[in-house]
Amino acid sequence: IHVIRKKTALSGLPDDPSAMENGSETSSFIGYSAEHLKLIEVIGQGRYGSVWHATLREREVAVKIFPNHYRNFFINERDIYSLPFMDHPALLTYFGCDERPGPEGGTELILVLSYAPLGCLQDYLRKSTVDWSTFCRMSSAIASGLAHLHTEFSKSEKGRSKPCVSHRDLNTRNILVKPDLSCCICDLGLAMKICGSAGGNEKTGTKSLNDVGTLRYMAPEVLEGAVNLRDCESSLKQIDVYALGLVLWELGSRCSDLYLTGVETPQYKLPFELEIGLRPSFEDMQVLVSRRKSRPLLPDKWRENQCVHLLRETIEDCWDQDAEARLTALCVEERLKELPIIWERLKGGNLLHTGVSPTVNLPTQTATINNN
Ligand code: ADP
Ligand code: MG
Ligand code: MG
Repeated sequence: IHVIRKKTALSGLPDDPSAMENGSETSSFIGYSAEHLKLIEVIGQGRYGSVWHATLREREVAVKIFPNHYRNFFINERDIYSLPFMDHPALLTYFGCDERPGPEGGTELILVLSYAPLGCLQDYLRKSTVDWSTFCRMSSAIASGLAHLHTEFSKSEKGRSKPCVSHRDLNTRNILVKPDLSCCICDLGLAMKICGSAGGNEKTGTKSLNDVGTLRYMAPEVLEGAVNLRDCESSLKQIDVYALGLVLWELGSRCSDLYLTGVETPQYKLPFELEIGLRPSFEDMQVLVSRRKSRPLLPDKWRENQCVHLLRETIEDCWDQDAEARLTALCVEERLKELPIIWERLKGGNLLHTGVSPTVNLPTQTATINNN
């Protein structure tokens, strides 16, 4: 156990806890001084540093440690977490940051965040299937977290505002599972504030818009280097929604209740793992996703009913080849919230199992109209 000895207050936290408007978690958080931070074990090793399970006073937290040469990513992530209105159940809570002596006389930079004991969604899905209600809870949390990031809040009565934020690296390793089996989005290391849509951000060159994220989750226009820079805000949101589609596919493919009775839920697979394996190159992805417009197959062993139909449509409308035809995150959130209601209605009418034999058409409203 490594105890941080430096006696500085975590700079993200004000001295007076009542000054925090960030909701209960932060305001009940007493004793900010970094000497109370104890690292327990590494829980994540990312590209730009490591993430530790730690305690700060008695509270469990996650600590993301960046080596000094990745200061830019640290500053970026810290600045995004420090924006107003970033307090949301589907985002991590930000407790503060610090700079401290690191190994070999260097400096390391730390972010203190809320801890998600069940780890990232990808590891969770590898080990467990999810039932229908968990699927609904997880997917709508992810969509609501993304919708919240994407939403701009113009000046409130206190003069605070939040720009639209694009995540730019949404994938199931950057989504964490919370104890109530909902999810939250993490890793804002590549996230970007988008202030005004015209022309985008001066600081952001074309290259960085086209060139970030996780290869497997890159939208066709990113792979082609053809992101529409004239409406930078919409383009970046559409890129996130494409990745959201893949995430929903991953979740859905591990949802046991979506499969027909008696069909075993298949093992977890990454998006495109079946098509292209574990180590695709950039060119492989270009050919597959941009040129051949290929997408992960939606399971043919899923039930066929109105609810599953809407889910299929929602996923397909997220990863549309035409970026402008994609849904907004807010719209995905709304559609996903409808699903459990439709499901219950079908269940009440004993209609969940339709599609056991695809040749049998149940008398739906449309069928009746057609017969007339
Ligand atoms: P990187 O930018 O290096 O990818 P992340 O913020 O994505 O860093 O963290 C890396 C991994 O650490 C995540 O994929 C996840 O498994 C784990 N992790 C990150 N934050 C937390 C947290 N707050 N609680 C639990 N696990 C976390
Ligand atoms: Mg990450
Ligand atoms: Mg990252």
